[in-house]
Amino acid sequence: MKKDLYVRCPDCDVEMRIDRETGAIISHGKKDQSSGINFGDALAAEKKRKNELEDLFKEASEKAQDKPDLPDDLNNDKWR
Ligand SMILES: [Zn+2]
Repeated sequence: MKKDLYVRCPDCDVEMRIDRETGAIISHGKKDQSSGINFGDALAAEKKRKNELEDLFKEASEKAQDKPDLPDDLNNDKWR
């Protein structure tokens, strides 16, 4: 039975070898030319994705401010 697990690293997209029993990383593969992904490009893409998420979040919070929820006011009316 194969003892080690092979998992793709989410950060650098290389194959890591993991000890199935301890969860320890036995080896972390090195990025090579065959992967076709440049580390700088990956960083730039990650940064861009973060900026897009921040824009979405900002947009959402601005929308929330435009339309405040009214349930509190409605509840108050009931007791007047
Ligand atoms: Zn990695």
